Amino acid sequence: MGKHAAAHVHPTTAIRLALEAGVDCLEHCTWLWPGGLDIDEPLMEEIVKRGTYISLGLPSTWYRVPLGDIQDIMDKRGREALLGPRYESIRRMFESGARVLSSSDAGSTAPRIDELGLLLEFLANQLEVPAHAVITSATILGAEAIGLGGEKESLEAGKKADFILVDGDPTTDITALQRVDTAMKDGVAVAGGGNVFL
Ligand SMILES: [Zn+2]
Repeated sequence: MGKHAAAHVHPTTAIRLALEAGVDCLEHCTWLWPGGLDIDEPLMEEIVKRGTYISLGLPSTWYRVPLGDIQDIMDKRGREALLGPRYESIRRMFESGARVLSSSDAGSTAPRIDELGLLLEFLANQLEVPAHAVITSATILGAEAIGLGGEKESLEAGKKADFILVDGDPTTDITALQRVDTAMKDGVAVAGGGNVFL
């Protein structure tokens, strides 16, 4: 119908139905089935082939609380049945070549707007997703997924100059993304040196 559509899908059955219905973006994409959590490989291949976006929708507790602490408070069964396989499935979704988006689960665990850097740090340092893939998932792919491809997804002549300058090289130290020096919007500095210019 020409409309951009996203579907909130945890079970594998829901992922399959959403894909068959032709949605553009799968929210969470948790791969739950009655026996646990695991990727359905043929379905994953279909997601890659179609170029369907996967928006992770991670709870803020994942990146706010140290991993060891989360594992301590979950019982062994929950840890083994859910958390480990979910981490592994996220790594594999990135590796598969799917268009994975780094997103928080706004509305469930009250993520703050300034916490995206923590989420990206979690993916790169805890789940060992390559930094380049993590940065792409939060910039180029994010812009494309919400219909801003061709306008804001990369720094090129003719596109809108919305970008940040950070202290450090995020491809070798992802935490550099949390040290924003200057923010540019439409080519004009809107924040810098700790000040907001509005
Ligand atoms: Zn959700």
